Amino acid sequence: LNRRLAEFGTTIFAEMSALAASTGAINLGQGFPDTDGPEEVREAAVRALRDGRGNQYPPGPGVPELRTAIADHQLRRYGIALDPDREVLVTAGATEAIAAALLALVEPGDEVIALEPYYDSYAACIAMAGGTRVPVTLRPRTEEGERRFVLDLDELRAAVTPRTRLILLNTPHNPTGTVLTRAELTAVAELACERDLLVVTDEVYEHLVFDGEHVPLATLEGMRERTLTIGSAGKTFSFTGWKVGWATGAPELVAAVRSAKQFLTYVASGPFQYAVAEALRLPDAYTDGMRDDLRAKRDLLSEGLAAAGFAVYRPAGTYFVTTDIRPLGAELSHGGDGFAFCRALPERCGVVAIPNAVFYDHRDAGAPFVRFAFCKRESVLEEAVSRLKALA
Ligand code: PMP
Ligand code: GLN
Repeated sequence: LNRRLAEFGTTIFAEMSALAASTGAINLGQGFPDTDGPEEVREAAVRALRDGRGNQYPPGPGVPELRTAIADHQLRRYGIALDPDREVLVTAGATEAIAAALLALVEPGDEVIALEPYYDSYAACIAMAGGTRVPVTLRPRTEEGERRFVLDLDELRAAVTPRTRLILLNTPHNPTGTVLTRAELTAVAELACERDLLVVTDEVYEHLVFDGEHVPLATLEGMRERTLTIGSAGKTFSFTGWKVGWATGAPELVAAVRSAKQFLTYVASGPFQYAVAEALRLPDAYTDGMRDDLRAKRDLLSEGLAAAGFAVYRPAGTYFVTTDIRPLGAELSHGGDGFAFCRALPERCGVVAIPNAVFYDHRDAGAPFVRFAFCKRESVLEEAVSRLKALA
């Protein structure tokens, strides 16, 4: 393994899902729903397979039906007008969009600012592109009795140097559940314009917002031409295995990403692309229903974790809740070491979670935080809560 990748080892999601499988524990680690997406969307995939649509290489940028559906969806939901031919690229999940964007836009030695904790593929892809990651840490704060992780705009501003190429943003944010406000995003936009930076914004949880609203960065003044937005059908429609994602934005940015993408996978997910095109045309009631269902699950798990003794950062968005394990006491929380805590948890009470420290360069800052996923059936969450309560 070369030096660029040596530090990354095995992704925590594979490690923790394997631990869940080998111990039979409830897997609240890796974020995937335990209920598949809508029947009619599955039927659409079957129809595409049967009718021979997408069984052979589809067009490199994605099938026109899907590119048009992505453009229509952004227009309908956010008022963003996109040319499906020049401003939309279909990728093998958001993961490939992130990789292709960084490989296409970053020169060796360029600095890339990422919010810390950051989704693990960001760090590996910045490294593969030869860039230098510059983490800006979201700070844990308690305001009016509610805990949340907050972006310190002064820290973000101070992180920009003449070598900064782009900001890699993520809202709603995995793993903290923070949803950046319009005011925060406006400040990010102003900074990007002032310092002439590109922004790659990962908005895969765009429809999973429980408090406040999702504001697409590309809708803010001056951002249309410098923003590449990344989306995914995996989260919105509960088909994480289909690996259908996309990148949208200004034609020059999308063309650059397409250049890298064609040599990574060329194309992927043929028949599923047609099915996702139909999914994107479902009425808003579908995403509203999904959001309301997940909000109830967020509350169930957050309250259960609090009752079990964790300090809970109730998320405004995503399907993850971050907790601080230190209130459990030094012994139960392994002295606030989330790694040791998560490795021992399946044995102790039959639950798997993710140590947020893997998403930090400043490991000490992330050490006491542990993430639980709540995209699971209510009965599963209830069982997990009762097991966690028995910890003490
Ligand atoms: N970005 C974030 C923030 C994620 O949480 C995930 C996956 N959970 C991805 C990207 C990857 O999405 P996909 O499965 O579409 O590749
Ligand atoms: N994005 C999912 C998570 O955060 C995991 C995806 C993966 O396994 N790469 O849990």
